[in-house]
Amino acid sequence: MAPKGDFFMRNKRKAQEVPVTPVPGMPIPSTEDPAMIRHDRSYIYHNFTNSLCPHCLKVVQAKIILQDNKVYMLKTCPEHGSMRSLISSDAAYYLSQSQYNKPGTLPRHFQTRVEKGCPLDCGLCTDHEQHTCLALVEITEACNLRCPTCFASSDVGRFAPLDEVERMLDTVVENEGYADVVQFSGGEPTLHPQLFEILEMARKKRIKAMMINTNGVRIARDEEFVRKLSAFKGNFEVYLQFDGFRQSTYEELRGLDLREVKQQAIANLTRYEIPINLTATIKQGVNEDEIGEIVKFGIAQKMVRGVTFQPVTNVGRHDAVNAMQRTTVPDVIRAVAEQTNGMFRQTDFVPLPCHSDCISMTYAYIKGNKVKPLPRYIDVKSYLDVVGNQINFRVEDVKGVVGSALMRLWSASMPLSTINALRDFSCCLPVTPQALSQEEHGSVLYENMFRIVIIAFMDAWNFDVRSAKKCCVHHVLPDGKIIPFCSYNTLYRPQYMHKTRFRSTLPLQRTSEETTSSERYYSHYETSETLLAPLQPAQDDGQSEG
Ligand code: SF4
Ligand code: SF4
Ligand code: SF4
Repeated sequence: MAPKGDFFMRNKRKAQEVPVTPVPGMPIPSTEDPAMIRHDRSYIYHNFTNSLCPHCLKVVQAKIILQDNKVYMLKTCPEHGSMRSLISSDAAYYLSQSQYNKPGTLPRHFQTRVEKGCPLDCGLCTDHEQHTCLALVEITEACNLRCPTCFASSDVGRFAPLDEVERMLDTVVENEGYADVVQFSGGEPTLHPQLFEILEMARKKRIKAMMINTNGVRIARDEEFVRKLSAFKGNFEVYLQFDGFRQSTYEELRGLDLREVKQQAIANLTRYEIPINLTATIKQGVNEDEIGEIVKFGIAQKMVRGVTFQPVTNVGRHDAVNAMQRTTVPDVIRAVAEQTNGMFRQTDFVPLPCHSDCISMTYAYIKGNKVKPLPRYIDVKSYLDVVGNQINFRVEDVKGVVGSALMRLWSASMPLSTINALRDFSCCLPVTPQALSQEEHGSVLYENMFRIVIIAFMDAWNFDVRSAKKCCVHHVLPDGKIIPFCSYNTLYRPQYMHKTRFRSTLPLQRTSEETTSSERYYSHYETSETLLAPLQPAQDDGQSEG
């Protein structure tokens, strides 16, 4: 339903009374004369963009306005009427983001032409502004959970055959020369019976770092699987869904109490020394008060290298975000500062230069119980602040040793860049009494750095083509297309999903029959009773793992 009511409220302020100098022969107008009354808008018009109607997904024009220190989008669909959605809860933060903007970095190829206009030409079309920092390769549509917040609506589905996965990997490598980070995703990638063959195949390609994006169920209950995974350590991280510590949090966001699963998954990964990134979906009224605890918990874990917070969106299975009350990037920054007792401050967060609208992050040096956020010891902002030189901007201008190291740290391809950038960076870190001791300075490495990343994905309510054009988190698809994350999940995903063809014919079972020689289907989901139970042999059929 489109929201009701006219939000273009008139400001009833009367025109100010100003002294009127009489002109001979002209009557002096009274300030009570209705013709003397002017009305102001109740907001400041800031910008203009294109968005989507959340009801019919047609492209509509939109205004970005500032009101009461917040940022809103106003748009009107000819069919579904006028609507308003919150873009940022902090106008000052929103306006400051642009100073970190930088020229986009081009991919080596584009896949489509500009024909209908953004976002209908994905992609990447020749008008896209940013190469792929993080390539998402979905190797299955199936999942063993049915999270109410799943943007992929994963449940029943197929496992991508190896040749299809290879095609997707080759697409991103061809497009990038060297791909920064490939994240295997789904569905639940740990269910893929050929996951280890896929990782082995990817390891031989020009890919700098790999991740798997997982709910942790298999990792929690299959130690042998984790042992095999540890063979890929080195430029490899597990992106582990981890939303908090309360039963109600998991029941609301995941449909099941997964607390034990998460702790067991972290324990197993730690046992095999596999680096972990905790990824928390944040939903207002559910777990925004757990943000600080998640940060502190992450810092205390030996193998956790960072935490990513992703405010929930109205995409896929989830449509319960109130577009006027969503959690935005500054809300998460504020929560981190307020809930970590001074460990982090709001000023420790810096927007990502190539995608300042949607991503903000910080790093801290960790040694024992000491936590030292990097931006307090080095003027990150002045290195990344290119606004003064925007017109004649040259990347070289910020590519001193520290500048280029920071550029790589403040990057969406952070896991690998962290390792290399920190090596450059450690020799430039100022050693002062306020900063790090000589001994600490020498040991500033991947293991000592903890990153906090906040990524605000868009849905049709707050979709802004200006952001979509700069997105560097891309889905790589079997047909050779590369589609920016928010465009894909808002507009394109349904046309790429295979599962609807099979949902009605598949019985609910752990592993279905092979329907072709290379594609198989999975339709089992866990319940609270099965969550930590040993795997049945049918799933772990021994095919090609390890
Ligand atoms: S999001 Fe990027 S790739 Fe897609 S249509 Fe817009 S500019 Fe082109
Ligand atoms: S675990 Fe991930 S893929 Fe599976 S249903 Fe939940 S959000 Fe979707
Ligand atoms: S985030 Fe880093 S890797 Fe990505 S475009 Fe920006 S500078 Fe390049």
